[in-house]
Amino acid sequence: MATAVHLSRELQPVLLELAEAERAAAQPSGPRPEERELAELTAKRERLAAAANSAQLAVDDMELEILRIQEDERKLKRRELDDKRQLTAETDPERRKDLEHDRYAAKSRIADLLSELKEAHNEIAALRNNRDNHGARLDELDRQIDAARRAVDALPPREAVDTDRLRAKLPDKVLSLYDDISAAAFNGRTCKGCFIQLPPAERAEVLAADADELPTCPNCGTLLVRVSPAE
Ligand SMILES: [Zn+2]
Repeated sequence: MATAVHLSRELQPVLLELAEAERAAAQPSGPRPEERELAELTAKRERLAAAANSAQLAVDDMELEILRIQEDERKLKRRELDDKRQLTAETDPERRKDLEHDRYAAKSRIADLLSELKEAHNEIAALRNNRDNHGARLDELDRQIDAARRAVDALPPREAVDTDRLRAKLPDKVLSLYDDISAAAFNGRTCKGCFIQLPPAERAEVLAADADELPTCPNCGTLLVRVSPAE
């Protein structure tokens, strides 16, 4: 054992709190789980909104297609009626033949259009259904986002640990050593300073130190505060 520093077992958690607070302060603080959840839901909403937009566009396209078919059908019906009307007066056989042929073509095209229209109505029902599903999912997501935002708003401000108060409790000798070599928890297996799992002999050595002393990590040399394995 290189060093063993006296620090009463009552003060050891204070040193550990100080070390962990200063380590946390040295790292940029990432988003908290509630903030991550809100960000994920917001990103999900963007993707779903884009899909909902596509679903709406597909409905719009099909509505235009139906209008086009209906307009074509109206034109053909006028043509067919016009042919019929002309046929009542026309006596020239060649001319009658042309009119009859045109009337037949119009009727046949109208029949095609009616079957197209039927298909388009089936399709638009499915497309509207899809659009409404997206709408319902967006509504549900909005509710989740509201709840997530409330959770974020309700988060307590990030607690700044009063490290001066912690330092004031600790003996100068320990503090100056801590400032040199830092301190970390040891859970019976792993040093939380270097995250190395110590071999059994070294673990035993660390654990054998007096309860009112701080052993050092055989690997990284940091002061070790022994904590229960669960921590
Ligand atoms: Zn270590």
